[in-house]
Amino acid sequence: MLKDKDKIFSNLYGIKEREIDSVISRGHWDNTAKFIKKGSSWIIDEVKKSGLRGRGGAGFPTGLKWSFMPKPNPDKPSYLVVNADESEPGTCKDREILRHEPHTLIEGCLIAGFSMGAHVAYIYVRGEYVRERESLQIAIDEAYSKGFLGKNAAKSGWKFDIYVHHGAGAYICGEETALLESLEGKKGMPRMKPPFPAMAGLYGCPTTVNNVESIAVVPTILRRGASWFSKFGRANNTGTKLFCLSGHVEKPCVVEEEMSIPLKELIEKYAGGVIGGWKNLKAIIPGGSSVPLLPAKLCNDALMDFDWLRENQSGLGTGAVIVMNSDTDIVKAIWRLSKFYNHESCGQCTPCREGTGWMMRLMNRLVTGDANLKEVENLLEITKQVEGHTICALGDAAAWPIQGLFRHFRHEIEDRIKNRITKNIAAE
Ligand code: SF4
Repeated sequence: MLKDKDKIFSNLYGIKEREIDSVISRGHWDNTAKFIKKGSSWIIDEVKKSGLRGRGGAGFPTGLKWSFMPKPNPDKPSYLVVNADESEPGTCKDREILRHEPHTLIEGCLIAGFSMGAHVAYIYVRGEYVRERESLQIAIDEAYSKGFLGKNAAKSGWKFDIYVHHGAGAYICGEETALLESLEGKKGMPRMKPPFPAMAGLYGCPTTVNNVESIAVVPTILRRGASWFSKFGRANNTGTKLFCLSGHVEKPCVVEEEMSIPLKELIEKYAGGVIGGWKNLKAIIPGGSSVPLLPAKLCNDALMDFDWLRENQSGLGTGAVIVMNSDTDIVKAIWRLSKFYNHESCGQCTPCREGTGWMMRLMNRLVTGDANLKEVENLLEITKQVEGHTICALGDAAAWPIQGLFRHFRHEIEDRIKNRITKNIAAE
């Protein structure tokens, strides 16, 4: 169990004061200039040594990502863009940082921005996060008033400004290139890659897009040392992590814990256990709705990290654990996700535009009891035709939950057809 002294987000639940003098008294903004004066290579090396992998879902090494940024060019600015468009179902961790710990993010922006030669950061906040955006803006204004942002940010000699941009609530704007399009004032549609944002991102300039948590942990990593951070978790899966626990648990919550924590420990210690007890567990979705589910038999030994979950054909994603107990109609639960992804497809590439609708309609028929066994084969085939054939990862996100359902609960699908089990979905 992670000790309180090792928690990066000491005010995750908003119990302590949020105004800047209290934040400073808790150790934030403590001689930030010292890190900047050590230079960008030192910062990037420390982040690489810490083993930090992106906390937004993909798990790409953060320091390596920063090192892809080209050398500063006076004719072409570089940008840091923070992805606060947290819209993955089950995920609500960045929200806690925005409303209760915004200075960890703001200080992280200054350090990360400097390391990649950026004088400006944009924070793209999910449309529905109105109070969170207000809380963040108050903290940014406080940082300006204390001289932590602006011409000589935190007396570092580096000019740095932060702008908050409020999205309009489209899930797809959480995809980094769709986010950049939206930031530029266009429709939030993903771009073809390459070029990657480090070469041609915001306004065609070098850009790095990072998740809120990935940036917010950086000041503490530098303050306490890369080796402190890397001692948590297993090799290649280091550090602390915010986990969101929801669904059929006694006490849904967001908690900071060590990476690689056993899933069972996480659920029992922090969420009060599965409703009806551990034996009543049917399945979990471990990383937000886009990763394949894990059946109860795999949950006993599951470790919450990138590698264990990948080896077991799922993913850590955002670290959002959705728990389903034996009361769950698992086919209907996955149908609901199909409906979500169909609704959120931006429609610009054919396999996703047509495939998400086709998958949803077949899932509809499964739930209402109108499908036949041949259609079941078609459904699985369609998921494979969509997977890996789209511009962005939304196609995979729509296909994987259905593939997970087939992998572990095919018997329920077939029983449902044979026994003509019907459910009404008209109102959902
Ligand atoms: Fe749009 Fe879907 Fe293609 Fe992504 S995969 S670009 S969401 S149509």
